[in-house]
Amino acid sequence: MSLNIGQLRKDFPILARKVNGKRLVYFDNAATTQKPVQVIERIKHYYTEENSNVHRGVHHLSQLATDKYEHARQFVASYIHAGSAKEIIFTRGTTESVNVVASLFQHLIGAGDEVLITAMEHHSNLVPWQQLCRQQQAVLKVVPINEKGELDMTALKNMITSKTRMFALAHVSNVLGTINPVGEAVKLARKKNIPVLVDGAQAVAHLPVDVTGLDCDFYAFSAHKAYGPMGIGVLYGKEEWLKKLPPYQFGGEMVDQVSFSETTFNNLPYKFEAGTPNVSGVLGMEAALKYIEEKGIGNVRDHEDELLDFATRKLSKTEGIKIIGEAREKTAVLSFVVNGVHPYDLGTLLDQMGVAVRTGYHCAQPVVESFGLTGTVRASFGIYNTLEEVDVFVDALKKSIALLK
Ligand code: PLP
Repeated sequence: MSLNIGQLRKDFPILARKVNGKRLVYFDNAATTQKPVQVIERIKHYYTEENSNVHRGVHHLSQLATDKYEHARQFVASYIHAGSAKEIIFTRGTTESVNVVASLFQHLIGAGDEVLITAMEHHSNLVPWQQLCRQQQAVLKVVPINEKGELDMTALKNMITSKTRMFALAHVSNVLGTINPVGEAVKLARKKNIPVLVDGAQAVAHLPVDVTGLDCDFYAFSAHKAYGPMGIGVLYGKEEWLKKLPPYQFGGEMVDQVSFSETTFNNLPYKFEAGTPNVSGVLGMEAALKYIEEKGIGNVRDHEDELLDFATRKLSKTEGIKIIGEAREKTAVLSFVVNGVHPYDLGTLLDQMGVAVRTGYHCAQPVVESFGLTGTVRASFGIYNTLEEVDVFVDALKKSIALLK
């Protein structure tokens, strides 16, 4: 079955609006995706019919909200093939998930130890490790990439040592679109018993994710990049790790018994969820992941591959354009620069023609600079984008280049 994009677009009300008098072409999906009515309505339904605090009340609404919230946790667990719902911690998003793990690892990383990341990381999976290393006098090591934007697996093999305490890598690069061979990387790390954290921010909406198959120790993602609401996301952690690690924040919900002299902590996953959670966000995220599941992630992948191939071929034929990121395994992200034209100026002109793209460092300054650049233009695709929109984008791009040269 292939996707009926014309039909599916009707689920996303914002796509019908105009921007600067033009029909919106939204190619900034790597920053955040638009939301279908199924997600919007789910949140509305929660606040009109189900709102109450969870895990606390004996009354009907509290029990209803708790059931829905825990049901969503089960669904998320099965969506990413976690071993159990206990391994799903709700956070504010990828950034918070990485920060939680980095903060907890301060107990396990000391002077002279090493943390590995890759040269293509988003700041969210770089700065927390850099700061942790600084605080603990540990060493941050960066696995290089080649000129196509692929991870250097030989270098990785050599960089994993007896001092390595963590390897953190993106599943998909938000600048290059590279899909990293995460399963292979985990196997290398596993040989030396090194834990692996995967930043799945750019993967969950585009690829099937199977954390058990990948055998990673931690997996982080944000709902808002997968058609869900902002301010909610997931930290998957293997149960053995979550049992072993201490709580991250203290307060209500995460405790068992409390006295003025002592506190015992709640079971997993509640030990890591202090305070009232973002219940509507969790339910919106469940609706978003159900939406993707219903369309079929394989169909989504095929459709986005077609968009990426088509756009790549068109840009390759356009004079003066250089594509940044030409890995064999790519998804949904197309970064490029134009000879003699500033990315910001291009982005501004494209916006005037109704085309939304992202320009600059994309919160991943080191990888952009490693290509000798101060920014790129990034078109990133989602389930609702069409080949016709790629045509509109390329025409607008050619017009913009002509105006700016
Ligand atoms: N990691 C990657 C690869 C990303 O692309 C992003 C956002 O662009 C993040 C992490 C941070 O996600 P969030 O801002 O939702 O926490």
